[in-house]
Amino acid sequence: MEDRLHRPLHDLRISLTDRCNFRCTYCMPKEVFGPGYRFLGRHEVRSCEELERLTRVFAGLGVRKVRLTGGEPLLRRDAADLVGRLAAIEGIDDLTMTTNGSLLRRHAPALARAGLTRVTVSLDSLDDDVFRAMNDVDFPVAKVLDGIDAALEAGLGPVKVNAVVKRGVNDHGIEELAERFRGTGVVLRFIEFMDVGSTNGWRLDDVVPAQEIVDRIGAAWPLEPVVRAYPGEVANRWRYRDGDGEIGVIASVTQPFCGACTRARISAEGRLYTCLFAATGHDLRQLLRDGIDDAGLEEHVRGIWLRRGDRYSEARTTQTSGARKVEMSHIGG
Ligand code: SAM
Repeated sequence: MEDRLHRPLHDLRISLTDRCNFRCTYCMPKEVFGPGYRFLGRHEVRSCEELERLTRVFAGLGVRKVRLTGGEPLLRRDAADLVGRLAAIEGIDDLTMTTNGSLLRRHAPALARAGLTRVTVSLDSLDDDVFRAMNDVDFPVAKVLDGIDAALEAGLGPVKVNAVVKRGVNDHGIEELAERFRGTGVVLRFIEFMDVGSTNGWRLDDVVPAQEIVDRIGAAWPLEPVVRAYPGEVANRWRYRDGDGEIGVIASVTQPFCGACTRARISAEGRLYTCLFAATGHDLRQLLRDGIDDAGLEEHVRGIWLRRGDRYSEARTTQTSGARKVEMSHIGG
């Protein structure tokens, strides 16, 4: 099944909640996501049963890889239960989670037992002051590093670390991050700072281009490109010539990769988005409520995918902000 631009459906990202215990300034700034912000109520987020059913239908349409995200997915008490249900679905051969790592020490063993394949931890700086300022809830970096250790001990590897780079905020720590994870088996990936809704004050000047990151790390430790493992792979990968592992860069702003995008996203309230930058989603929740059967659901999603022609990142100009219409916390990164 291919969309109008001949892209198959291969990946599904599921946001488990719109809530987060961090207030990263580039994602959920306090000024917007403060005490007055209305998060989804308990009955507005999709249940484990609904997400299991949706995932089964998506697997029938070709999805092989599922990533659980948020908000912070580990704020959901039933996260491990959900992992167990999704791991049992035929066809899903990669089940991963993106987390801020704050609760990993507590949950990693249960997640691994339930069948999570591996984990990606977001960590933007090793400098405790910078990290505390970026998460804006004064969360110490040591606890996230301990969460990464917990994931490794539980066998949730290879662990990936996502670092969003913002110029003048944490870009001075690029080499320090690279050095910390070189030779450890942890794969570090740098993400260009993206526009999120209209809420994170995005400016092109704040973006550190992926090429600059590669050049800087390569100057310290020579790098060579790694061939993509599969067509829809998000990161451009580079390996250290001395054999001490690899890094990735996600150049969503300077080198958009819509042409190879095989991802669908389900928001916490159950809307289907066919692009991170889409203005609107398709309401699957109402269909579930109306009692649609699996065959009907599959036909509905198939129709949406066949009509898909999104290429927002390539189409928009990098000079403008406000391109994102949906908050990152709703549909995950
Ligand atoms: N709470 C989890 C976490 O921190 O990983 C999952 C949700 S978070 C929205 C998923 C990923 O999106 C994180 O790696 C985060 O750094 C990234 N992200 C959030 N806002 C971003 C932005 N404006 N530009 C680039 N990446 C962003």
